[in-house]
Amino acid sequence: MSGKMKCEYCGRPIKGEPEIRVRRGKKHIYCSEFCFRLHFYDVPTISYEDLQEFYRLRAVSVPFR
Ligand SMILES: [Zn+2]
Repeated sequence: MSGKMKCEYCGRPIKGEPEIRVRRGKKHIYCSEFCFRLHFYDVPTISYEDLQEFYRLRAVSVPFR
């Protein structure tokens, strides 16, 4: 990895596995599926279910240092 990637939604540098999604032929990079969903759907509020998934994905894909 180049180490220059960062999440398009929250702007955090991506240290773990990036979530790469192609939307309308354009590549987007997110730190987690949660950010992808927020960006994609432009979610105004966060549901309890999303929040749970957020923490689950966070723990797995974004290790803190
Ligand atoms: Zn993010």
